[in-house]
Amino acid sequence: PTSHLIQDTPASAALLNRARAVTPGGVNSPVRAFRAVGGTPRFIAEAKGPWLTDVDGNRYVDLICSWGPMILGHAHPEVMAAVQEAATHGFSFGTPSENEVLLAEEIVRRVAPVEQVRLVSSGTEATMSALRLARGATGRSKVVKFAGCYHGHVDPLLAAAGSGVATFALPDSAGVPASSAHETIVLPYNDVAALEAAFVEHGDQIACVITEASPGNMGVVPPAAGFTDALRRVTREHGALLISDEVMTGFRCSAAGWYGLEGEPEGGAPDLFTFGKVMGGGFPAAAFGGSADLMSRLAPEGPVYQAGTLSGNPVATAAGLATLRGCTPEVYDRLDAVAHTVADAASEALAAAGVSHTVQWAGSMFSVFVRDGAVRDYEDAKAQDHAAYGRFFHEMLRRGVHLPPSSYEAWFVSASHDDDAVAHVLDALPHAATAASAG
Ligand code: PMP
Repeated sequence: PTSHLIQDTPASAALLNRARAVTPGGVNSPVRAFRAVGGTPRFIAEAKGPWLTDVDGNRYVDLICSWGPMILGHAHPEVMAAVQEAATHGFSFGTPSENEVLLAEEIVRRVAPVEQVRLVSSGTEATMSALRLARGATGRSKVVKFAGCYHGHVDPLLAAAGSGVATFALPDSAGVPASSAHETIVLPYNDVAALEAAFVEHGDQIACVITEASPGNMGVVPPAAGFTDALRRVTREHGALLISDEVMTGFRCSAAGWYGLEGEPEGGAPDLFTFGKVMGGGFPAAAFGGSADLMSRLAPEGPVYQAGTLSGNPVATAAGLATLRGCTPEVYDRLDAVAHTVADAASEALAAAGVSHTVQWAGSMFSVFVRDGAVRDYEDAKAQDHAAYGRFFHEMLRRGVHLPPSSYEAWFVSASHDDDAVAHVLDALPHAATAASAG
């Protein structure tokens, strides 16, 4: 563990300068740039278990975990062995291979309503393809999404999106044609009346409602009691499909994701699910799936086209399969224990420092909002003391704990967060809480 305070990061600063010359903002995904919190993003040279080591040799307990995938910790020995074994047989074939079947079987076995999946390479591709399938199956074009939910950078799904779109305070993205945005109806999350009203007005044109199974991209905002049931009921009444985006929650909230935790909505399961993150074990693998009947509308069986050069990549699927197989009940117990220890300590430290805050949960997924009172939707999530979060973040970073560099993100733990790593986090928290309070 780092015993000293991390002051200078010259090697990261030098790399950032070089990166800026050849890459917009110096990063390949916007939130990594630290724009919301300021300062120099750390270039990571190595990651093992719960620890990140940057190019200056500083060590950090990782509370990002690659934004979800590293549920077993970094460079887990069994995943490493599976990746190395797969790689010795070649990197990509462009033909079917056994790992794809094994990974699909593993997903189908875990999430009962999913009879078939199609593998893709990112969560964005999964939601984009699920959306096309929903439109193809219904012959309708409009899509309902919820403010604060992020489903990847899919044109019609970028409106009022969470995650980086929220961090950068963009209402939506430039470059999305009006014709595409026009097909999107954005509603406040957890608001059944707004949902019903939208369907009264546009019901016969709505192909689908897409929702994060339990939102994690405006911070963690679980569905209020009955909200998922209402989504199912209203979509059914109007012949629209329900897409549950489990890219973040899938195989994290439980072995069967949020679906496994909340159970089947009244009136039946969602029609389509999207997965990513954990199922790729840190490699580019994602999926969308549903009933065999619905999935049969995809090419080559049906008329909805979807494809990918690297889809079902043998190394990525080996990593995903080893990760899912490693997600034992003990792993979920450890995630739960670590998450609760860290969240409770954060809450205690913030309370002691007089910082108003709220911790919210979805299984072992949690986030800390720097505000008073429950957060039910995006408007609530926006009304935080973002500057206080920035001070908190930087004091944690200085003490060797790497939180997400934005107040709109979940904190991610792994089963590799051992007592030593957790103790390191607990030591840092009171100092960070004091920094947060010193506005
Ligand atoms: N859906 C959800 C719920 C997500 O959290 C994310 C990524 N954070 C995505 C979709 C997009 O996935 P990717 O970044 O792999 O494209």
